[in-house]
Amino acid sequence: MKIGFIGLGNMGAPMASNLLKAGHELTVFDLVQSVVDKAASEGATAAADIATVARCGAELIITMLPAARHVKGVYLEDDGLLAHVPKGVHLVDSSTIDPMTARDVAAKATAQGNPMLDAPVSGGTGGAQAGTLTFMVGGEDQEFAFARPVLETMGKNIVHCGGAGNGQVAKMANNMLLGISMIGAAEAMTLGVSMGMDPEVLAGVINTSSGRCWSTDTYNPYPGVIETAPSNRGYSGGFGMDLMIKDLGLATEAAKASGQPVVMGGLAQQLYQSMSFEGHGHLDFSAIIKRYMKDEE
Ligand code: NAD
Repeated sequence: MKIGFIGLGNMGAPMASNLLKAGHELTVFDLVQSVVDKAASEGATAAADIATVARCGAELIITMLPAARHVKGVYLEDDGLLAHVPKGVHLVDSSTIDPMTARDVAAKATAQGNPMLDAPVSGGTGGAQAGTLTFMVGGEDQEFAFARPVLETMGKNIVHCGGAGNGQVAKMANNMLLGISMIGAAEAMTLGVSMGMDPEVLAGVINTSSGRCWSTDTYNPYPGVIETAPSNRGYSGGFGMDLMIKDLGLATEAAKASGQPVVMGGLAQQLYQSMSFEGHGHLDFSAIIKRYMKDEE
């Protein structure tokens, strides 16, 4: 299929590579020329701007941008996608943004004859490279059916979550729970160790008991417990604390808009925010455990 792709960052670049490897014809654009050049060296056609991608003859255009303001810019500005894309071209935004913006942009696209899906992902850069992402998709049944085979070349689990914006709702709810559960794991591990438990023995008990979760059995924040976790390499790499703060911000904003209390989500956001304020925003979010550890630990 002829596909347009805008946003070749940490996630977008490997996703585009997987589309090329699967035999799709790609026209790409990013504000950073070096990433466009790299995609071109892999076989993509480089576009000079968004309008060129819009008019490249693609049946489907995918965007993978940092945040809602970039999505609004790329889709809604005078030189953006909606101003230039021919009627009938399908649109998929895989950026993580708030559901309200996703619904607004999708409504504008649909109204002018461009069906649109929100399809945020989980699985990180490793999943993007391996083509094993989970896509959480919001939009109409027939659009989901159209885009699914393309998403399958970049992901392993493609889940239709309901109408427009519901992909973002699912992503937001999951990441809020992850942010909260990591703090719980940090508190439980440091409490146990401070009372004399060996961290590996404690993690072993939790991971075969009712407290078990991804934050304890796969990504345990206590150093030395899980070999592959960021806690074992000084909290480098992984999922940045500032990105977690962004996702918790989406959840608390959405909660405000819908009148729904998210007490733990709001508390979690402030805890990560205070760590970022102290200069730790670049670390993996599991570094929140430092809040609970004495310097020598
Ligand atoms: P990134 O910052 O590495 O990449 C974003 C790219 O978009 C950049 O290359 C940037 O130049 C480009 N861009 C911005 N504005 C543009 C414009 N107007 N026109 C063209 N290109 C433009 O971000 P990322 O890590 O690839 O993440 C992308 C999205 O995926 C974010 O919403 C993020 O929350 C989400 N996400 C990231 C991860 C992760 O582990 N990095 C995991 C899951 C979801």
